[in-house]
Amino acid sequence: MANHEYPIDQIVDLTKEFIRIPSVTGEKEPIKEILDRTIAELKDFSYERFIGPKKGSESLLFFNTPTRPEEFRVILNGHLDVILAKPDQFNPYISDGKLFGRGSSDMKAGMAAEILVFKKIAKSLPYPIGLQIVTDEEIGGADGAKFQIKEGVRSKLVLSGEPTDLDINNEMKGVLVLNVTAIGKSAHASALQKGDNAVVKLSEFITKAVQAFPIPRHGEWKTTLNVGNCSSENPHNKVPDMATSVFDIRHIPEDTKDNLKNIINQLASEGIIIREDVDGAGIACSVDPTKPDLVLLANCIESITKKPVNFVKKAYSSDIRHFVEVGSTAANFGPSGEDFHEDGEYGVIESYQQYAKILSDFLKKIK
Ligand SMILES: [Zn+2]
Repeated sequence: MANHEYPIDQIVDLTKEFIRIPSVTGEKEPIKEILDRTIAELKDFSYERFIGPKKGSESLLFFNTPTRPEEFRVILNGHLDVILAKPDQFNPYISDGKLFGRGSSDMKAGMAAEILVFKKIAKSLPYPIGLQIVTDEEIGGADGAKFQIKEGVRSKLVLSGEPTDLDINNEMKGVLVLNVTAIGKSAHASALQKGDNAVVKLSEFITKAVQAFPIPRHGEWKTTLNVGNCSSENPHNKVPDMATSVFDIRHIPEDTKDNLKNIINQLASEGIIIREDVDGAGIACSVDPTKPDLVLLANCIESITKKPVNFVKKAYSSDIRHFVEVGSTAANFGPSGEDFHEDGEYGVIESYQQYAKILSDFLKKIK
């Protein structure tokens, strides 16, 4: 069972080093430190550094060719930013075969394994392979993956090391963000008949919208609608003439954005204005599991784990959606972990090593 090709200590040590750097999305200094650490690790490779236009988030792209090719055969993608955590979550520790700490699951371990596999075999592979490391995945990837694509980075296949329990996540929900404004008519609070209350109008609309998308209490694969906020700047003695809200709709691939916008618009009474916020948007992805690259990956997984692999659906999105949008075959495939984005986040150490081994086998086998 022991496999010494990717010593587990090496993956765990690099992951622990990463966890100790509090690279919360948007924190410039720790982000710079963690990227410098990866540049030091991959000092024998060419790379490009990208500075995104939205928030100035940095990302890197390493490759096994002297210059960036027009199209990579494979890009290994990952992010080194994490969401906020309690201070002690930046002190990793091991207990019962699990590594605890922010990023132990999402996704510093997956990234560390990708880096070490790339370092070890990229130069021996007969095709162009890239390693993409971004620092804004947790806020949508506009500066990282999406920006690199805008700068011409392309790949036939993209795999992201997000935690998937060594399954293949090929389907994910899209995000549709709608800004809602209710327009009414102001009047004094003592003369309501002269006014038209925008808060009341908005709350009636919100009730209808929420009823149209019942909460899937048992994890059913359905489109959901979250009312993110609801506000009106208005004193108590005046009928409000304006109120605003924002809807975050996570939709399955079968529910297209246009259909959803139609449904929402039909619920709106006069005076309700709905505008899509394209910055917050992401497409829903459904990548065909019979694509040869994914079939080969599934075989490589099964030969290491000795159990059937699953193609799984996820309600949250990741940077691979940006690549799906430009025609890549793309999926999330990473090690096991639990409670990411929570206080008890951990990764399963054995799965880190299995992950590295599978990835390496797969990369050596593809044509
Ligand atoms: Zn992640």
